[in-house]
Amino acid sequence: MVNYDDMKPFIQRIADGKSSGILSTEPITELLTSSGTSGGQPKLMPSTAEELDRKTFFYNMLVPIMSKFVNGLDEGKGMYLLFIKPEIKTPSGLKARPVLTSYYKSQQFKNRPFNKYNVITSPNDTILCEDSKQSMYCQLLCGLVQQSHVLRLGASFASAFLRAVKFLESHYNELCADIRTGTITSWITESACRDSVLSILNGPNPELADEIESLCGAKSWEGILRKIWPKTKYIEVIVTGSMAQYIPTLEFYSGGLPLVSIMYGASDCFFGININPMCKPSEVSYTLLPNMGYFEFLPVDDKSLDKSHSTVDDNALKGEDLIVDLVNVEIGRYYELVITTFAGLYRYKVEDNLKVTGFHNKAPQFSFVERRNVVLSIDTDKTSEEDLMKAVTQAKLNHLQKSLLLTEYTSYADTSSISGHYVLFWELKPRHDNEPPKLDKKTMEDCCSEVEDCLDYVYRRCRNKDKSIGPLEIRVVSLGTFDSLMDFSIAQGSSVNQYKTPRCVTSGGALEILDSRVTRRFFSKRVPQWEPFGSDS
Ligand code: AMP
Repeated sequence: MVNYDDMKPFIQRIADGKSSGILSTEPITELLTSSGTSGGQPKLMPSTAEELDRKTFFYNMLVPIMSKFVNGLDEGKGMYLLFIKPEIKTPSGLKARPVLTSYYKSQQFKNRPFNKYNVITSPNDTILCEDSKQSMYCQLLCGLVQQSHVLRLGASFASAFLRAVKFLESHYNELCADIRTGTITSWITESACRDSVLSILNGPNPELADEIESLCGAKSWEGILRKIWPKTKYIEVIVTGSMAQYIPTLEFYSGGLPLVSIMYGASDCFFGININPMCKPSEVSYTLLPNMGYFEFLPVDDKSLDKSHSTVDDNALKGEDLIVDLVNVEIGRYYELVITTFAGLYRYKVEDNLKVTGFHNKAPQFSFVERRNVVLSIDTDKTSEEDLMKAVTQAKLNHLQKSLLLTEYTSYADTSSISGHYVLFWELKPRHDNEPPKLDKKTMEDCCSEVEDCLDYVYRRCRNKDKSIGPLEIRVVSLGTFDSLMDFSIAQGSSVNQYKTPRCVTSGGALEILDSRVTRRFFSKRVPQWEPFGSDS
C-alpha cells in the first residue's frame, strides 16, 4: 500500500513532462488538485480522458435514484450553484485544476443529456466564470428570477451553499434592483455572463423584485429558502463528515427542508452514491460503485488491532495481510479505504475511515466516519493535529511575550456565523507567578496571524482568495481551565492515566467549560499570504 508521498515523485515526473507510462497505459491528460496537501502544496492526482466518462456515468446515476424518491422533478429546475477555480499549467503543459472545475469545463458536462431533470437555473457561462463573485451574483440572480420553477436547491458541499446564502443576505437589494429593472449591475463585466443573464431576466419584473425584497427584509431569516423558492422539495449538499457541522444552520435557513447528501467522491476517484437520499443526515450511507475503481479496505478498529499485534510465528500482521476486498467487509466494522484507479494509483490509501452499515443486495454500504488526522475543517481545508501543533509552536516562539508560558491549548471550528473560523483556546501563565497574565493586544494579534501563516496552502487559499474562512481567533482562558476540562472528561469515563488534552473540541460540555472561562479574545488582523502554487514569483 502507498500514500501520497510514495506516489509524489512519479506524479512530479509527469508534471515535469516525462512519460506518464510509468503510472498508466492510458495517457495522463490532466492533474487534479486535491484539497489534501503534501509539503505545503496541494496533492496532484493523475487523471485520463476516460475518467470524465466515468464521472458522467456517476452523475447520470443520480437522476433515476432521485426520481425514485421524489416525483415530478422533471417538471421544474434545480438552482445548483456550481463554481470553477482558475487552473494552472504544469511545466509539462498539463493542466492542474480541481476535479469539479475539470468536470464543469468538459464536453460531457456541456452536452449532458437534457432529460428535463438536468435543467438548472445557472447558464453555463455563469458557472464557467473564473471570478467567483461575478459567478455567484449571476447564478443567484438567475435562480431568483426563475424562482417559481425551482424544485430543488444545491451546491457541492454545505459550506459552499451557505456562502451563497450569506452572499444573498448582503446583496439582495442590488439583486432585486436588477430584477425590478431587467438590467444587470455594472460590476458584472464578463460579457458572456451579462448576455446569458440578460436573456434570462427578459425585461423588468417589479412584482417579483418587491416580493423577494420584502421576504429578505424580514427580521429573521428562519425558513427564508422555503419562502423565496416555495416549490423546493429538498436541498442537495454534502452534509456528512466535517460538513455535518452545518446541518443546524441549513435547517434554520431552509425551514426544515430535507438535506440530500447524495455522493461521496474525491479528486483521486469517485466512490459511491447514497441510494436512500431522503434519509436523515445522520443515517447517510454510500454504496460504492465497483466500476469507479478497485476498492480495498484496511481494517482500523480494535478487532483488527488485536490481530495485527497477535504473533503468528512471531511476526505481527502487516497492513497488506489484513486488507480485504469489497465483498469481504463485515458489517459494523471500520476500515480505511484503499483504491486502485484506472489513472494509475495503485493500492493508494485515501485517508478516509468508513464504517460498514449494511448491504444493498450484496453491495456493502458505508457511512463516512472521519478523514484521518483532521482536527479542524471549515471549508475544503483539512488541518491535522500535527499541522496545528507546528503552527502554534511557531507562533509561540516568534511572538508570545517571553514572560508567558502557553501551558495548554485546544481548538474549535466555529461555524456559528458564515464564514466560520478557527478558534484556539490558550491557557497562558506568567512564568514567575500565578496571577492572570497581562496581555499585549498587538502581540496576541500577531500570534493569531503567525498561526495562520503557518497553516497549509488550502487553509490560506480559503482565507485569502475564497474568503470562505474568517480571521483566526485566540480565546485566552483563565488559569486552571484545562484542569477542569480533564475533570470533566474523567467524570465522563476517561481514564486518568490515559487522559490526553483533546487538540480539538466539537461541542457540548467541553466547549461550554472552555467558553465560560474565556478572559480575552483576539483576532488575526491580516490575511495570510497565498499564491497559486506553481507560480514563478
Ligand atoms: P479532495 O481530495 O479535495 O477531492 O477531497 C476529497 C475528500 O473530501 C474525501 O476523501 C473525503 O475526505 C471528503 N469528502 C468527499 N465527499 C464526502 C462526503 N460525501 N462525505 C464526507 N466527506 C466527503
